Amino acid sequence: MELARFPRIRLGHFPTPLEPMDNLTRLLGGPRLWIKRDDCTGLSSGGNKTRKLEYLMAEALAQKADTVITQGATQSNHARQTVAAAAKLGMQSHILLEDRTGYTQFNYLENGNVLLDRLHGATVERRAGGSDMQGEMETVAKQLERNGRRPYVIPGGGSNPVGALGYVNAALELVNQSVELGLRIDHLVHATGSSGTQAGLVVGLQAMQSKIQLLGIGVRAPKEKQESMVYDLACRTWAHMKLKGDLDRTSVLANCDYVGDGYGLPTPAMVEAVNLLAKTEGILLDPVYSGKGMAGLIDLIRKGQFAKDQNVVFLHTGGSVTLFGYPDIFGLVPT
Ligand SMILES: *Cc1c(COP(=O)(O)O)cnc(C)c1O
Repeated sequence: MELARFPRIRLGHFPTPLEPMDNLTRLLGGPRLWIKRDDCTGLSSGGNKTRKLEYLMAEALAQKADTVITQGATQSNHARQTVAAAAKLGMQSHILLEDRTGYTQFNYLENGNVLLDRLHGATVERRAGGSDMQGEMETVAKQLERNGRRPYVIPGGGSNPVGALGYVNAALELVNQSVELGLRIDHLVHATGSSGTQAGLVVGLQAMQSKIQLLGIGVRAPKEKQESMVYDLACRTWAHMKLKGDLDRTSVLANCDYVGDGYGLPTPAMVEAVNLLAKTEGILLDPVYSGKGMAGLIDLIRKGQFAKDQNVVFLHTGGSVTLFGYPDIFGLVPT
């Protein structure tokens, strides 16, 4: 697997730490829990999009783009990290934020990620829930081109074969760390949304013939749709890398039982998980992704899904800035 031939620019802090969660392990009575700190990747407070953007922004630079366009939900971490990368590279940024929750609270609409989007200098536009966001981005790109700019369009979540390379690389990084630590990793669990993270990990782990079992905890789509999105992107990434043979469909596993009422809508288990990690490990999760991912992992542990002597790694994909978009569900009451 030759990743080095793909253009990459450095935007983050790597390798991210792989740390034990001893308090949570004790509290739940095993398995042995670890956390891979991709919330510490740097780039505007960090998160999983840094790895994807190292490859995507390299392509934008190669195309001599001067403006980056992307889209996401109102509290999109991907949009925030993309506009930060654009700022660092001296490019303009234009983001389209989709109303996926119907929330009208000021903090949801303007605080958290949206505050940081503006701080990084992005032009922010809103779109109604259910809009054709890819089509909307292309329309904006054409307008900008007519004004003499050179836009580069990044799909939602940075999830295409170029962005997914960041997580092929993350799989390599994790396997190297496990070797250094003499740690046998049995399971790797993380929140899965637009699917680039999981697709990249699937490709990286399979290319290395790793025995680590990967599980995505869904935050939006039902299981079948989520798994086929991940598999489709993993196959395209596999082809993009010119790897030999076929990708094993059975290595793509998503559990979508923890979505609750929908994307970005809180669940009691998510609130419990965010509180528990904050109070036992001093770690900040987020309400939309890592909180639901951890809620899923905790529930599966309580159901006895893992043996006590297994090592389970939770990939922390970031997102804690979103806590400031939902302060009321974590107990902040205006005085
Ligand atoms: C985007 C995001 C994810 C999901 O990653 P995908 O590659 O879109 O599946 C998980 N956690 C956080 C915090 C994110 O911002």
